[in-house]
Amino acid sequence: MDKLEIQHIRTDFPILEEKVYNKDLIYFDNGATTQKPRCVVEKIEEGYYHLNANIHRGVHYLSQKATEAHEAARTTVADFLHAGKREEIIFTRGTTEAINLVATSFGEAFCHEGDEVIVSVMEHHSNIVPWQMLCERKGMKLRVIPMNEWGELDLDVFKSLLNEHTKIVSIAHVSNVLGTINPVSEIIRIAHAKNVPVLVDGAQAVPHIPVNVVELDADFYVFSGHKIYGPTGIGALYGKSDWLNAIPPYQGGGEMIATVTFEKTTYNELPFKFEAGTPDYIGSTALAEALRYVQNIGLDKIAAHEHELLIYCTEKLLEIDGMRIIGTAKEKSSVISFLVGNIHPYDLGMLLDKLGIAVRTGHHCAQPLIDSLEIPGTVRASFAFYNTKEEIDTFVTALKRVVTMLS
Ligand code: PLP
Repeated sequence: MDKLEIQHIRTDFPILEEKVYNKDLIYFDNGATTQKPRCVVEKIEEGYYHLNANIHRGVHYLSQKATEAHEAARTTVADFLHAGKREEIIFTRGTTEAINLVATSFGEAFCHEGDEVIVSVMEHHSNIVPWQMLCERKGMKLRVIPMNEWGELDLDVFKSLLNEHTKIVSIAHVSNVLGTINPVSEIIRIAHAKNVPVLVDGAQAVPHIPVNVVELDADFYVFSGHKIYGPTGIGALYGKSDWLNAIPPYQGGGEMIATVTFEKTTYNELPFKFEAGTPDYIGSTALAEALRYVQNIGLDKIAAHEHELLIYCTEKLLEIDGMRIIGTAKEKSSVISFLVGNIHPYDLGMLLDKLGIAVRTGHHCAQPLIDSLEIPGTVRASFAFYNTKEEIDTFVTALKRVVTMLS
């Protein structure tokens, strides 16, 4: 993307004009959440001002319009992930809820004492704890794929972990700490050769790289709307219909039922079986708007620009004495975690903030990974397509100043 195009795109994001402590905001915390383009905010406003009525159960005009918008959003998500069938998309509150749904419902149907679940050392807590809870409930074991010094998963160990007790593999497509793009296609192929299904946590992938769940042959794929320029509180689970039909509902309530008597309840068909209660139909339409926005720019173009930012920033950072970049995989997304000498990441983050630069510090909800690296945490700069090389220049200059102050 050229400068003009990025400048034009930036006008869609009013928050990028904000001042922080009288400085221009430089927002490099996109891994935590992304900023929202005007069209997404307007979609929410339009929803509440003109389309608000509870969906699916109303005969009246507004309810029908709201239902159409929500179901059209489902189709948009299905198309975005290249899912085979729109009913394979379940709206959730986000990645965390989607993983909990699968861990609970899949666990209920298919897991027993002595079974095993495989995750990797670089998972976000939301792809560890739900499986740990399942393991505690059922008396199962959690197995962990290690990584090499660059932050790439060890697939030989993965193969050796797969055995007749393995019930499911759950793996991040892209690490939120290291930026590693995991070879999920290969992981899925290896797991499927042993008849083991795979859930892919796409929270950090969908905003940056094109995803095709059918080509990947993922059994489950999950993501959060707020990380892809959509609203908070909405996300999606893709599941192969065979799996979704084979596992029980996650929550009970309205909408997920076919018939209810005090003696027995029968459940609704997909996708409604997994959507108990009033869904976030305003959020779903705003999420669809965000996906359209991203598609209009083009994910290939986004990936190319963000890769340029990654390379540019990495080179600049390496000019700093004592710079240690955590995560140097060959396949990497636009996330840079780093430490400088013995300076605590929190101190770096605090002082950068005073200069208007938003980065994240700490364990990034991946405590086991940080512990395995024997570090106190990292500073993480994560880029979006609206970030620029000029912002990186300002960031690196500021960082040099901060490092001098703290050394
Ligand atoms: N998985 C990964 C890789 C993440 O980076 C995150 C959030 O940072 C999550 C899961 C959890 O996402 P959410 O909090 O939106 O449910």
